[in-house]
Amino acid sequence: MLAERINKAWREKKESRIKSWGARSNAASQLGWKCDRYLYLRRKRGQEIPAHDVILQSVFDEGYLHEKAVKRELSDLGFEVLEAEREFRDEIREITCRIDGAFKEGPHRGETITVAELKSMSGNIFDRIHSIDDFIRSNAPYHRTYPAQLAMGMYFTEADAGVWILKNKTTGEIKCIDFPRGDLYQEILEDAIERAERITCYMNNKAITNDNLEDFIPEAEHGFLCVKCPFRGWACFPDIVDDAEVEILDDAGLEKALSDHADLQDNFDAYRRLDKSIKATAKKKEKEYLILGDFTIRVSSVEQRRLKPPKDADIPDEWYRVINSKRVTITRQNQEEDDD
Ligand code: SF4
Repeated sequence: MLAERINKAWREKKESRIKSWGARSNAASQLGWKCDRYLYLRRKRGQEIPAHDVILQSVFDEGYLHEKAVKRELSDLGFEVLEAEREFRDEIREITCRIDGAFKEGPHRGETITVAELKSMSGNIFDRIHSIDDFIRSNAPYHRTYPAQLAMGMYFTEADAGVWILKNKTTGEIKCIDFPRGDLYQEILEDAIERAERITCYMNNKAITNDNLEDFIPEAEHGFLCVKCPFRGWACFPDIVDDAEVEILDDAGLEKALSDHADLQDNFDAYRRLDKSIKATAKKKEKEYLILGDFTIRVSSVEQRRLKPPKDADIPDEWYRVINSKRVTITRQNQEEDDD
């Protein structure tokens, strides 16, 4: 059947494009991730991260198609993007940087250079981003890497300025944000370069192993980075306090149960919200029975009696009943990306 063959060909094509997470250098696109441990692990153990699926690969490919379309559109408007995909390398600090392109302007085409980074994103993210501050303060860790990426591009090309060209994937709208050279640029650039120098030193330090990583490389500055970190829970354990007892399990049944449990969470949360709203509405009606279509809701009155000692009552210790229990909290890292 033709449909089946096309579906199969599509999946195979996407699968063939999936690349592993391994990194051989300090990629400029990652240096804004403010966790040395993450950047070190990306180079040292990135190959061990399970490959992403064909859907996420398709999202990446869509980003590439949007990038090509934006370049064509800009060219039609008289803004030709030159030096597309040009790569730079700093051998000492082991930095690699690839720019999306550059605009060269002036009577002889080259008097002023502006490096361009093209980003396509969903409509709701597009509407929230208006300035470099919105990247710096974004709740999405990968947005916070954009300024360092562009600053590195400006540094390697010796550009006069940088510009982000954002595309709304839903409407096709384009929005540009300038990144001029100045104090902020300098600060972001120096931070990224120093980070690359540190990671290069860690990589060459033979005393660092998987088992003593935390003795050498500090955790992220911001805990929120850890939520989306692909290393959390198997290569890095930022949530675990120093003297806690830890056991790494190999139990496929329990792992499956946890995965199913996480997948049901959204529905469960939605169910709880709906349940609360229905019960609140029903209580306001002040009737014992409510009938809607096939449904009958009964609102019954319940009297609960609880002891309520006076505020400053002197209650002897033996009157307290101590109940020891255990609380179980399950967390799961999330690798979902919203734009590309
Ligand atoms: S889990 Fe947190 S501390 Fe560990 S590498 Fe990732 S971002 Fe850094």
